[in-house]
This record gives sequence, C-alpha cells and structure tokens, in this order.
Amino acid sequence: MIATVLNRSGIPINFRPAAPLFQHPISAKNTVSLWANPCLLRPSNSACHESGEEQIMTFKQAVFAAKKSTVLRRSQNMYKQLLRDQHLDQHESEKLQAERAIAHARFAMQSTEFYREVYSGAGFTLKDLDDPAAFRELPIVEKADVRENPGKFRSSEATDRNSKVSVTGGSTGEPLRLLRDLRTPTRTLEWRLFDWWGVDPSDDVAILVRRVRSDRAELAHSLQWWPSKRFQLDAYRMTDEKVDEFLARWDRIGPSLLIGYVGGISELAQMLATRGIRIRPPRAIAVTAAPMTPAQRQLIESAFGAPAFDHYRSAEIPWMAGECSEHNGLHTFADVRKVEVLDGSGRQVAPGVIGDVVVSDLTNRVFPLVRYRLGDRTTPIAGPCACGITLPRIEHVTGRISEAMRMPDGQIVAGEALSQTFSRNPAAVRQFQIHQQADYSIVIRCIPGGDPDARRDIDSAIDQVRDIVRNKVPVRLEIVESIAHDGGKIRYIKSDLN
Ligand SMILES: [Zn+2]
Repeated sequence: MIATVLNRSGIPINFRPAAPLFQHPISAKNTVSLWANPCLLRPSNSACHESGEEQIMTFKQAVFAAKKSTVLRRSQNMYKQLLRDQHLDQHESEKLQAERAIAHARFAMQSTEFYREVYSGAGFTLKDLDDPAAFRELPIVEKADVRENPGKFRSSEATDRNSKVSVTGGSTGEPLRLLRDLRTPTRTLEWRLFDWWGVDPSDDVAILVRRVRSDRAELAHSLQWWPSKRFQLDAYRMTDEKVDEFLARWDRIGPSLLIGYVGGISELAQMLATRGIRIRPPRAIAVTAAPMTPAQRQLIESAFGAPAFDHYRSAEIPWMAGECSEHNGLHTFADVRKVEVLDGSGRQVAPGVIGDVVVSDLTNRVFPLVRYRLGDRTTPIAGPCACGITLPRIEHVTGRISEAMRMPDGQIVAGEALSQTFSRNPAAVRQFQIHQQADYSIVIRCIPGGDPDARRDIDSAIDQVRDIVRNKVPVRLEIVESIAHDGGKIRYIKSDLN
C-alpha cells in the first residue's frame, strides 16, 4: 500500500507503510483531518486551492509568525533567502556558490593564522583568491589540524558576543573544540528541511538523541520554543520506564515530527511493534548519524505510520543536506555549504563514484572551516530531482573512513564494500554489524529479519564477505537478539584495529 500526503509546498510525499496507519482513538478526529485535508498542511499565507478557502492559522502559528517578525527577524530574512536559493537554475546556483566559496576562503586567509600560513605555504596569495577557480586547488583541512591548532582557526572577527565555544564528541572519536558563529541563525536550515518534510517550524517535535538537557536548560529551551513543544527521550537510557514516560507525553502532545539517531529510532520502532503499541502518527520522522538500511526504513515507517527522511549534519558543520519528498538522495545546502566529493588525489569524482566528503561552511566567520574533510564518504547524483528543488544531490552518506577493515598484509577493505553486504536482500536482517577484532578476525552479528529465506541469505552474505577479504582472516557469524549501540549511533562497520 502506498500512502501519500502533501507537504506544505503541495508536493506529494509517498511512502510505504507495511501495516495500516495507526490512529489513536482519542486523536482520531484530529489525525484524520490533517491527513485527509491537505489544505491544513499548506503555509499560513497561501490560499487553499483545493477548496478555495483561506487556511485558519493556529495559535502556535500565529505566535510563531509574531516571533518571526520581531525577535526572529534575522532568521526570517535568511529563511526567505534559502527558499529563493533552492529554486535557482543550475547555472545561477553554481555561480552563487563559487562566488561565496572563494570570498569565504579569502576571508579565512585574511583573518586567521591557520589559513594565512597554510595557503601562503602552498603558494597562494590573496590576489590568487580573486579567482573562483582557485578554490578547488586550496589545501584540504583535516580534523587533526583543528585538534592541534584550535586557536589558529579563530578569526579576527570573533568576539565573546558573536561566538560560542562548541565541544564535539566527534563521530570518529576525536573530540574537537571550535566556535559557532552566533550571527548565523542555523535554525533556518532546520526550517528548510521541515518545509521539505511537510512540517511547520511552529509544530511540536519529539527528539531522540544522546544528550538530554539539565532541568534548567530544559526550561530555557521550552521557553525559547513556547508555545511549541519539544520533548526528548535519551538514547542512552531507553528503558521500558523511560520509553513509557516518553510515549505518555507523545500521546498528550501528538508531535508532528520525530527526529533523532537512526539506531535509537529504529529501536523505539521495534519496541512499539513488539509491544503492539499504537501511537498518533507524526507527519514525518527524520533520522541522522548513521545510514538507514531499507529494512530499518520499513520498520520505522510501519511502526510510526509516517515517511522517514534521512538528513546529514555533523557536530562541526550543522545541517548540510537532507532528503526531499522524492526520497532519492539528499539535496546539499549548496548556497551555504559547499559539499565536495573528492577522490584520493583531491579531484572531484564523477556522479556515481564514491569519494571523501569535504565541506566548507560558508556561514561561519568566527571559526572558518574551508575544505574540511569530515571523514565520511558519499557519491554525487547527476540530473535534476523531480521535487523541483535545484540544489545538487548526493547519496546517503555511508562508511566512515576509520572503519575500514585491515588485513595482516596491509590491505585495506573499504567499509562501503562491506556496508552493501546485505543489499541484495535487505529483509534478511533487521540489523547487522561487522566487527573486526584486534586479532584481525571478523565477527558478523546479525539480527535475522522475518523473511523465510533469511538464514540462507545471511549465509550467502557471509560467503560474500569471506570472498571480499579473500579468506585472509577468519570470518564468523553470530546470530544475536540485539546489537549494542553507542547512544543510538550503531556502528555498522567497526574495527578495533583503527
Ligand atoms: Zn528532490
């Protein structure tokens, strides 16, 4: 069965729930009206073409509109700009990005010690940076550069008022300290994604992440979003009791969006399915932090009765790309982040070819990150997207570089090769993890899926891995009931040798 809802731009969002959409008895009326009446999903200032009636603004939307024209004025201006940028034609879009990127590199060279040293060391003068074509020759910045020289990245423009220290755990286990530019309202990038997902910025949101705020921070956060509600489930403490508390709040509030780590959300989906719990469907589920397997997507969409969307962000550079209603790759935020996919010698790879993700944050002027290697891998997608958004697309980001497998003779097996292990029959496993031990041996942990041929397909996948590593190391299968996750982030391809 294909279910369809219209997003706020009137674009249909298709998804396949494996089970009928759940409706909570108390909220059934509200739920049906939202799903059956696309006019309710339209932006507050647009007339409803279906019925010719003006949409009635909810209290939350009215408060939000008032905030946008006062305290959020800067955000509102940036948001309008983002909505314009995402429909520019390809030529205009590329020109805009090239100009912004080289201007940012120039700024970085003028205002920070790091870029001044590194760019001049590589033979660049400020004058060279008048030419947008010079950008792709600029040296790549590694995580180690930031870790070892954080002070050198601070720009002369940074003050205590316009910047905030941010400490990241680091997805590759490398904690980093950097500065956020408080003058850029990054919340607008979240709003852009909400627009693609049919969610209004004033809507209530359920969050499933690792960090949970202190009571005081929670209160400040609630006041900031009032009257919209945002509530969390801690991905570290998903006990039955905490989950029940979370679901009780869910039942009272009926959030439009669930956002969080894919590992945590699929675990919650599994709990709902196992316990037979029916919840009020949100309008969208947004996952991040790890690749979502087709089996996970199906489980999540079925348990929550709503379409799931992948998006890409990092601790260092927030909000970089997201899935649109077509569910066909992620549109990069090319107007504010330059996302490059490069091969081993630093050249842009062709569409369909996998490479390293190197990103420039074109909005942070207090701690510029220009051509920064994030440690992720992806593939550019060619051609326009049917959704009408002209921002370029990349495939779902997979395989951390650090999670490559190493053979005793020095051969490296890229994680991507292994992450595709179950792609022939995604239904064979609900979840899997490929774990290389310190003695080079590989353990493949699988939670089998419901497919009757699951075991046969798992065995054939194991043979495939043995073939990939050319039988240089022992490969062992472990059928398990659960796979330990690190605060909701499941490491699919894990190596103790890295
Ligand atoms: Zn699209």
